[in-house]
Amino acid sequence: MENKKTNHKKNMKKKKGLTTRIFIALIVGALLGVILHYLVPSGYVKDKIVVDGILYVVGQGFIRLMKMLVVPLVFCSIVCGSMSIGDTKKLGTVGVRTLVFYLATTALAITIALTVGNIINPGVGLDMSAVESNAAEVSAMEATSLTDTLLNIIPDNPLGSLAQGNMLQIILFALIIGVILAKLGERAETVGNFFSQFNDIMMEMTMMVMSLAPIGVFCLISRTFAGIGFTAFLPLAKYMIGVLIALCIQCFVVYLGLLKIFTGLNPVKFIRNFFPVMAFAFSTATSNATIPMSIDTLAKKMGVSKKISSFTIPLGATINMDGTAIMQGVAVVFAAQAFGIHLTPMDYVTVIGTATLASIGTAGVPSVGLVTLTMVFNSVGLPVEAIGLIMGIDRILDMSRTAVNITGDAVCTTIVAHQNKALKREVFEGS
Ligand code: ASP
Repeated sequence: MENKKTNHKKNMKKKKGLTTRIFIALIVGALLGVILHYLVPSGYVKDKIVVDGILYVVGQGFIRLMKMLVVPLVFCSIVCGSMSIGDTKKLGTVGVRTLVFYLATTALAITIALTVGNIINPGVGLDMSAVESNAAEVSAMEATSLTDTLLNIIPDNPLGSLAQGNMLQIILFALIIGVILAKLGERAETVGNFFSQFNDIMMEMTMMVMSLAPIGVFCLISRTFAGIGFTAFLPLAKYMIGVLIALCIQCFVVYLGLLKIFTGLNPVKFIRNFFPVMAFAFSTATSNATIPMSIDTLAKKMGVSKKISSFTIPLGATINMDGTAIMQGVAVVFAAQAFGIHLTPMDYVTVIGTATLASIGTAGVPSVGLVTLTMVFNSVGLPVEAIGLIMGIDRILDMSRTAVNITGDAVCTTIVAHQNKALKREVFEGS
């Protein structure tokens, strides 16, 4: 017993250490990137050995390690989660609550973005000649239609879905297997045990990979900052500030407010505990790759049962993109103002609807938010060429909105877990 306690304390210490180390990696990495960009002259050593050599290989290697975990972990943990819930009615309740929460927060996010956009006026007085346009790249973009997105949830070949990492198809197939395993009980005990043991293996692997996070984050951030030309930001500073303000409101007012209201948990502590996942999402701009880390952190630091998170986190990483919706809302105001197009109140309502749907269709990988933005622009007749204007500076916003995207998933998961009596408060209090 005593031994267990000491081990637990040691683990906690280790976890605290990881948060601090990731934070330091983020700051020092950004500083190194800026120094590389401005103070170190271009040349073989800087470009080939440091930026595109060491930083690239280690950073991308880390992202690949995280991605390696996603499909087997999501599959096994959803099978185990739905098997242990068993009851399809209960699963349905969790599903409906999660969807309502995801859709409502997304609609709210766009409303905030449109309001902030109209206060800041990001496109008024824009000197178009100072902005670098990537109009040619925009015409190559194509967003998937809503009907296809819906139909695509059903896998025509589940093994193909696993091989391609198609998250919604994997979720559906795994849910069905889990429910059937629960129904068959002892008749399928061996398969059930196989999945739970494999799930344990994947969780152990997640912890191993996560311990490398400070190094990965450091390399990813340094390389990004070494490559960003900050002068390109200037003409679009108002647009960027608009997006960042709306992201902060969504994260610190909406999410933390909802968390406090629905669960009574301390919001500051929640953010502190979740910080490593946010830092990882920020440095990779990939919601999908953060799934294993989110599930693990929610379980160990917030006391959220994996029965809930194994289902809601991958679902959220795929369909709940509040940060992306915010960028799209501000971009709409920006484009309308830059091109002198008047938007009616009805147009704004259309934007709220289409951007909510676009958020569902946005995959949790870098830059896809810009692709689905074409759908939003088309719905109100804005020129898609405007996307070319903001493309050059999108990376830093992509990083920021991804951190918000996954925080929304985590807050929703914690609330749904609380409502379904799957939240151990003592874990959160003791963390
Ligand atoms: N990078 C975002 C994510 O992974 C999606 C986007 O907005 O482009 O959540």
